[in-house]
Amino acid sequence: MKSIKQIDFSEKKAFIRVDFNVPLDDTGKVSDNSRILAALPTIKYILSCGGSCILASHLGRPKGKTKELSLSKLVPELEKLLSFKVLFSEDCIGEKTERLCSNLKPGDVILLENLRFYQEETNADESFAKRLSNLAEIYVNDAYGTTHREHASTATMAKFFDLKSPGILLNNEIINLKKLMDNPSRPVTAIIGGAKVSSKISVIANMLDVVDSLIIGGGMAYTFIKNNGGSIGNSIFEKEKLNDCNEIISLAKEKNVNLFLPEDVVASNEFSNKGLKKVVNIYDIPNGWQGLDIGPLTISKFENIIIESKTILWNGPMGVFEMSAFEKGTLSIAKSVAEATKSGAFSLIGGGDSVAAIKKFNLQDEVSFISTGGGAMLESLEGKILPGIKALN
Ligand code: AMP
Repeated sequence: MKSIKQIDFSEKKAFIRVDFNVPLDDTGKVSDNSRILAALPTIKYILSCGGSCILASHLGRPKGKTKELSLSKLVPELEKLLSFKVLFSEDCIGEKTERLCSNLKPGDVILLENLRFYQEETNADESFAKRLSNLAEIYVNDAYGTTHREHASTATMAKFFDLKSPGILLNNEIINLKKLMDNPSRPVTAIIGGAKVSSKISVIANMLDVVDSLIIGGGMAYTFIKNNGGSIGNSIFEKEKLNDCNEIISLAKEKNVNLFLPEDVVASNEFSNKGLKKVVNIYDIPNGWQGLDIGPLTISKFENIIIESKTILWNGPMGVFEMSAFEKGTLSIAKSVAEATKSGAFSLIGGGDSVAAIKKFNLQDEVSFISTGGGAMLESLEGKILPGIKALN
């Protein structure tokens, strides 16, 4: 795979697949610009080399063309962040777009209209991909969040370019994932939490080949406990996944991985901040009560494992951290990951909700790397080769 630094962008037009799928407020303004900020290093690098940038992204899941999901809404924010005027093309293909792009001068930036206004984008249509590729001489993919999708702009169009590479953001994701998966410093600990076992079973199975310790917390732990014969009251669990838990437990034994489950939990008589709370053994949750956070004994056990680790993956909260009554477990784990990082461990946080948690607790600058890809990150952790990355080889 070529690095962006090995490509000469001077006087060249680069098509950059960015992930500008940002949230908009009621007035249509960008309410969180993190994804635009994340793409700036690549855009600025290409401009500093004397190139021009054609930015393309999807926004939401439009059914045909809709004003609400027009990328034109992002132009003011992009101009504010770049401090210069950005061109906008009302289409992402077609004669007018081709003309606008062919007139680009070094230093110019143009944003194309929403790629998903064409269903050919998600259908990975070859001729649509070819038309997109006609706009530029170099292809750069900087949209890690969509690299697990085989779409026209994320994968298909790459084959029409001799010059192609990951952008700075995507390259960072690849490098940091490698630090975890290939020859990591040991001991390696994965902390997997969140609501359901079903969404992470393949991640857990694949990580057993990488880690020394696997910590399971959050809602998914109750399926394991139920499987082990515990009484879990009204806690969430997935009946059809009980067998998978058995498989994970025996695979962990076979691969010499220490598997840790919570021992005590903070249970409540209702799913709200206002219910009664008590700490109980996870194998003995009373009827009518549900486990919504890990308890103090579990926190201290998990902390000790994390602090001793040299490489840490964290995906998924330890409880319903969105409610203050049940945030303590997730907060304590976040603090331990930060502390281990301070002592020299490499820590990678990935998957939507653990990223949201670490940001809620304002610890985002105290871990080694926060992945920008939810689904893409999970699929990478499952050991899959993502179509958007494969296409760059
Ligand atoms: P996921 O998207 O699978 O990582 O799940 C994240 C969600 O799991 C968060 O919104 C948490 O509130 C939820 N969660 C974590 N622990 C529990 C629990 N014990 N009971 C119910 N939901 C939980």
